[in-house]
Amino acid sequence: MTHALAVGGNPSSVHAKGRAARAITEEVREKIARLAGARADQVIFTSGATESNNLALFGAVEGSLAEDQVSKNGSGRITRIFVSGIEHSSVLATADRLAERFPWVKTQRLAVTADGVIDLEGLRVALREGKGHTLVAVMAANNETGVVQPLADVAKLVREAGALLLVDAVPAAGKIKLDFSLCDYMTLSAHKIGGPQGAGALVVRENAPLQPQMMGGGQQKGLRAGTENLSGIAGFGAAAHTLDDGEGERARIQHLRDHFEVALKQAIPEAVIFGVTQQRLCSTSCFAIPGLTAETALIGLDLDGVMMSSGSTCSSGKVAVSHVLAAMGVDENLAGAALRASFGWSSTIEDVNAAIASLVKLHERASKKQSEAA
Ligand code: PLP
Repeated sequence: MTHALAVGGNPSSVHAKGRAARAITEEVREKIARLAGARADQVIFTSGATESNNLALFGAVEGSLAEDQVSKNGSGRITRIFVSGIEHSSVLATADRLAERFPWVKTQRLAVTADGVIDLEGLRVALREGKGHTLVAVMAANNETGVVQPLADVAKLVREAGALLLVDAVPAAGKIKLDFSLCDYMTLSAHKIGGPQGAGALVVRENAPLQPQMMGGGQQKGLRAGTENLSGIAGFGAAAHTLDDGEGERARIQHLRDHFEVALKQAIPEAVIFGVTQQRLCSTSCFAIPGLTAETALIGLDLDGVMMSSGSTCSSGKVAVSHVLAAMGVDENLAGAALRASFGWSSTIEDVNAAIASLVKLHERASKKQSEAA
């Protein structure tokens, strides 16, 4: 990143500094393509996954209108958007906004099982019922529970129906292998793989409808105008590069997560771990201790120097019941106690032990309060 700042050129300039800047963006484009299982020419740099999801959804719907004008038979225009109920708010809110903006677009939430996996039968039925060109959004793995979604099965159903597929791969990137050939649009964010905030990418299949949402200087083949965030892109590339041989590190992180969950259940047998029966990302544990509210726990943990989240990080400034757990049908009281522990490259076994000790103390305190009140 400091090298990119020192280069300082604009990748669109033809002079030497511009060419040096372009070399950085193109090298990173290759790395991000490798991370996504895609080709470099399919990668568009953005300001993060929120922008990428907005660009994919608005871009697809508006792009399909243009196709419609060419085909003149109305078959090209997207009229249905199916989103899994556990998608990030940048997908859910954008889909809702599209339905408000374009009266012919209907948005439908797809059900998930109690374990947090997309209900494939529900998707099959939704695709079969009714008519209309459809865009489906299913994330590769959930950011709150870590539950990995059956993307190959989803992609098969979507292809058979002639629909389009958007995959938010933000939490999954670098933790499981991504295969862009399954989908039409894929979103990535640098800060979720250890890179800087404010950088991300949208990967787009050629010929997939995509109307640009940022108009201006025509950068990135006119699909996303604006001078590229060179140092952010460089940091995104550096983070992606470190993931290339991260197998050992992923195993170490998974060991820490598993150790945390075993110790939690041993100390507090009534603790509930969400999605535990499913394949999950190595880095995530979403759990609840009945009787210990998330708000009380987060304050107590923080005082002990332990940082956890409730619900999704992006909205954890406020302690609200998670829409992901609600979609999984988790009881409201239990969902109000849900916490998320994330394990990463800087986590150690001492951190895990400190977290368990703090949770045990908070649980004892909450239980004592409850028995005094009874
Ligand atoms: N999608 C998911 C699943 C996320 O967890 C996040 C945020 O962390 C985003 C999208 C938004 O990413 P960004 O913060 O880069 O806008």
